[in-house]
Amino acid sequence: MVTADAVLNTHTNDEHNPWKNAAIRFENAAARLKLDDGMRKILKTPAKELTVAIPVVLDDGRIEVFTGYRVQHSIARGPAKGGIRYAPDVSLDEVRALASWMTWKCAVVNLPYGGGKGGVICDPAILSPTELERITRRYTAEILDIIGPEKDIPAPDMNTNEQTMAWIMDTYSMHKRQTTTGVVTGKPLDLGGSRGRPEATGRGCLYVTRESLKRFDIAPTDAKVVIQGFGNVGGMAARLMSREGIKVIAIIEVDGAVHNENGLDIEALMKHRRETGSILDFPEAQNLTSEEGFRLKCDVLLPAAKENVITSANAASLNCKIICEGANGPTTAPADQILADRGIFVVPDILANAGGVTVSYFEWVQDRQGYFWNEKLVNERLEEIMVNSFYDVLKYAREHTVENRTAAYMLALDRVAFAIKLRGLYA
Ligand code: NAD
Repeated sequence: MVTADAVLNTHTNDEHNPWKNAAIRFENAAARLKLDDGMRKILKTPAKELTVAIPVVLDDGRIEVFTGYRVQHSIARGPAKGGIRYAPDVSLDEVRALASWMTWKCAVVNLPYGGGKGGVICDPAILSPTELERITRRYTAEILDIIGPEKDIPAPDMNTNEQTMAWIMDTYSMHKRQTTTGVVTGKPLDLGGSRGRPEATGRGCLYVTRESLKRFDIAPTDAKVVIQGFGNVGGMAARLMSREGIKVIAIIEVDGAVHNENGLDIEALMKHRRETGSILDFPEAQNLTSEEGFRLKCDVLLPAAKENVITSANAASLNCKIICEGANGPTTAPADQILADRGIFVVPDILANAGGVTVSYFEWVQDRQGYFWNEKLVNERLEEIMVNSFYDVLKYAREHTVENRTAAYMLALDRVAFAIKLRGLYA
């Protein structure tokens, strides 16, 4: 067993390095599975990493050169799959970690995909829509050789959206001289997108939360949930949970939290934020600091904002029974042990937020079929995959006497290693 301290120097910011956190979880699972050294080397080494220069003419006529990455961590089980993020602090290490998480996530829910991720170092807040379009098209042209419906299928991630996907699809299609909708997912509905995709990650969180509550004999209508992040994942999860009668008692955002012990009116809170630009000062709720929100007594804490929010510094002060990781990497490796010692039931990110990639898979299938499903069918198939995967992970945890995160990694590594063994090594 590799301890977090053996890999991380917790006196530095290493606890927040996603690639190191990914490495700790990987090593723990690989050791439990008794994977041999050769297989470990294959599984942890990204299959392909591309760094590209993206020269772009800005609106004022100046030329700027941006840096972009596309990492394919594994293509053992199928084409690489994973989003593209635009942010000033994107790094190759971050993209590597995210790509490896996509490999494990797709394997946990048993999709026929490997894992990939992309990123461009830029600040979308200071770029115009036309500048973003030029960056997106040139980045697409630079990575064109390694993406494609059978090779690597990007999707939206931080600061990229349906429009970004439409530009990528169009640029790719122009080069291929044919409209190829299946090259990206998360597209607008009119360009081969799937019904149910915007809600899919939040909906997946709802399904695994519902199953987790059963383990504590808590009826959904008695359950109290605190959610961090009121964006795509957190907002949708809040909306869907409150529709099921689950009480969302607090929402934590960048500028603070709002709390009502009897449950917040989520639709009204969404309207309040649209009108005022903030969730704070919502009628019939009390303003709290983010830290106070995190410490509230609740049944489920659903971090759905960003990475590294549950750390060795605050894991001991959480007051929940269940953590459902809507965000990618919200818990650092050193915090894992603290949560395990406290008996907190964790639904790890590679399972909890897999609803998004699952419906992305449905989108890709529909594009290839040229036949589109209604929302009921999308949601039914999503529920089946999420619930089955939840119990697959729990079964693994029970059989190997490990906590859920290690079980999810073990299940994923086992599936990818098996595919590699079946394929054999081409030399
Ligand atoms: P988003 O940008 O739509 O929403 C994020 C929300 O979190 C925003 O409202 C933002 O204001 C808030 N936020 C940011 N920093 C915060 C902080 N320090 N404290 C409290 N709130 C904060 O993003 P999203 O698509 O909802 O993604 C959220 C997380 O879920 C990310 O980690 C992402 O990688 C992960 N994820 C998203 C999807 C998806 O389908 N969108 C799928 C899988 C995983």
